[in-house]
Amino acid sequence: MMIGLDIDGVLANFITPFLQMLERRTGRGSIDPASVTDPNFMQHPFLTKEIVLECMEAVSYDPEFWRTLAPLPTPEQWQALDQIAGDHDIVFITHRWVRDTYDISQVTCDWLRYHGVADPIVHFTQDKKSVLVRELNIGLFVDDRHENCQDVATETDALVLMPHRPYNQEFDHPRVRRIQQLDELFDYLSDK
Ligand SMILES: [Mg+2]
Repeated sequence: MMIGLDIDGVLANFITPFLQMLERRTGRGSIDPASVTDPNFMQHPFLTKEIVLECMEAVSYDPEFWRTLAPLPTPEQWQALDQIAGDHDIVFITHRWVRDTYDISQVTCDWLRYHGVADPIVHFTQDKKSVLVRELNIGLFVDDRHENCQDVATETDALVLMPHRPYNQEFDHPRVRRIQQLDELFDYLSDK
């Protein structure tokens, strides 16, 4: 089976350094991750759409930001991911922005390789992820953003798994399966 994995929020801890950047920009002190109840910060008490976009743009031009993201899976989970790559085809699908000042593809692939993904294939898109999921005939898709999960669940036949995060807690969709741990992905595949 073809498996499509998102990177940020699934494999890479994006939110912690991004909140640190927002803290520096706003000067409002520490931002509680629990206060971010949706991935676009729309309902946040003091973070505005403008400041979030400004920080998104800033990190998109900063290769160091992406290079130094902490991994979310444990070493055992990276190993399990590598093992399933033997039986299945894994592709990574990300909305990371491509800039001409550096090669985000190189940075992303190096990061994945560093964590044990032998030969990563990464697709960068600004389109809806369902387009690639359909084109690549992906049967299992994992993403932390509920908009992406909803899009893929609605537009394709892929099974959609959504790791539980504070910012997707309010989302519920009959075709999106919420998982607490990445192990649930491995358990599902071992039954196949
Ligand atoms: Mg994500």
